[in-house]
Amino acid sequence: MLSTNNLPINDELDALVVGAGFSGLYQLYQLRKLGSSVKLFESGSDVGGVWYWNCYPGARVDSETPSYEFSLPELWKDWRWTQRFPDRNELYSYLRYVGEKLDLKKDIVFDTRVTAARFDPDTDRWTVTTEQGTIVRPRFLVLAVGSASKPYIPDLPGLVNFQGIVHHTANWPQGGVDMEGKRVGVIGTGSTGVQVISEIGPKVKHLTVFQRLPAIVLPQINSKVDDEKHARMRELSPLIYRHRKQTASGHTVHSFPLDTFSVSSEEPLESGGGLNFCGDNFKDMMINQEANDEVYAFWRNKIFGEEKLAPQVAPYPFAAKKPVMDDNYYKVLSQTNVDLVDVRKTPIQEITDKGILTSDGVEYEVDILVIACGFDGATGGITQIDIRGLDWTKGVYTNLGMTTANFPNMFIVYGPQSPSILSNAPTTIEIQCAWITTCIEYLKNNRLTRIEATREAEDKWRDLTMSVAGGTLVSKAESWWNGANIPGKAVEPLYFAGGIPYYASILREQEKNGYPNFTLSTHGQTAATIDSENKYTTSQ
Ligand code: NAP
Repeated sequence: MLSTNNLPINDELDALVVGAGFSGLYQLYQLRKLGSSVKLFESGSDVGGVWYWNCYPGARVDSETPSYEFSLPELWKDWRWTQRFPDRNELYSYLRYVGEKLDLKKDIVFDTRVTAARFDPDTDRWTVTTEQGTIVRPRFLVLAVGSASKPYIPDLPGLVNFQGIVHHTANWPQGGVDMEGKRVGVIGTGSTGVQVISEIGPKVKHLTVFQRLPAIVLPQINSKVDDEKHARMRELSPLIYRHRKQTASGHTVHSFPLDTFSVSSEEPLESGGGLNFCGDNFKDMMINQEANDEVYAFWRNKIFGEEKLAPQVAPYPFAAKKPVMDDNYYKVLSQTNVDLVDVRKTPIQEITDKGILTSDGVEYEVDILVIACGFDGATGGITQIDIRGLDWTKGVYTNLGMTTANFPNMFIVYGPQSPSILSNAPTTIEIQCAWITTCIEYLKNNRLTRIEATREAEDKWRDLTMSVAGGTLVSKAESWWNGANIPGKAVEPLYFAGGIPYYASILREQEKNGYPNFTLSTHGQTAATIDSENKYTTSQ
């Protein structure tokens, strides 16, 4: 029997992975190595995930190579990076290379958006439905939909009346948009807005930037990777992959081992570019407001001084929102063809057919409107799927940031309450996918058909997530890291701030002890009956 897009409706499918970004590709590969029958559904037309969709001008990662890649020798040995911080096209090429090198595409169904999933307790299988009409019934469902897959467009009255071109940055046309000689408006100055502004400012006829809070932009200091650097990078790669698992952030940076006011030197505040300024900084920067103020003052005084862009008093604790990296932003903002509108003083009132009308009665006429307002992060990509019974409107509940009670056999990679976006993506993804794979292998070896997080474990994990984040200044900023950017969304820490080594040690404990935070069963019979050889015995 075939579904509408000719995919066999396969009751025997061991696992379905959703999403073909970093997480999904890695998970598919690992599960396939187990000998599992596994498919991957992807809503886009190619692999890449965020690096497929976010093809807006200027898109670039702020994790450094070779930290921002998979550690599999079958991949890195033949891959050559050309930039210290690769742009979107290079990252997209990398992920396509991953897809080809690991022969993943044969198990990926593109242009297929998962719309609903429900667990059937009688068969211990999921029924997964897609927009295209496909229905599959996998034993395990792995949501690898990413933390930034549901774009956020704020309520902009009159947007439908706009006669020009309008795109959210995460839904940018794959073929690009010709901006040369055009009047462009950009709403939003987070990581994305800053990159767009920096890239298009020198090319467009006129650019109007609509800023709410100013971004704190750090120098990225991007550079080309020449042959010599590349050879050295490859010599060090295995060491780097080992090292990145031992740092809190999963990058290869360590915080400076002293408190801010314990030394007179400003040396730790000097930066080698990129995340170093945050990652290598004094160890109390994110827990002591005074120390944090000192770092902000250093950044403000040493780097920029304009009040509109760098107010005397920090608009939010330094690095409590994602630090933004760019090498040209402030230079571009000072160009004569660029205007900055402070929408805290003059809020956007309406989008007209010609442009943007602010509360002071000024209409900014534009040909192209870029919405760089971010994402319904962490949870949006998951909750936009109708997972029958999942309700996170009052707060997120997960166990280990990967599973959730009442939703057996469902795993989440790079999702809420995991280190996710507080860490280097490939580091966390490799750790989580390895844990999921080992768990599924354990279940198969023990002829178990079901694993479900206990409510008690979930409550404990939530408490731990809240308390770790509560001890830092991160909770003092309103951002997509805590849901405050989405009207009506519960505001709470959405990521696990305990660091990679701590997180990995908790996962290992579960693995070593036969998953004590979970109920394991075979078609309704619990694994309390596991025998002395650790094998489930069906006779009981
Ligand atoms: P974001 O950080 O959430 O920024 C959204 C921007 O839109 C903010 O400037 C926000 O202002 C503004 N905004 C939201 N609603 C608005 C409204 N109604 N009116 C006016 N302005 C409004 O989103 P993002 O820039 O897309 O970045 C999201 C994440 O993607 C980043 O944190 C990062 O993890 C990832 N990313 C990474 C890179 C990289 O690796 N280099 C590049 C791009 C994105 P307020 O600040 O006042 O809320």
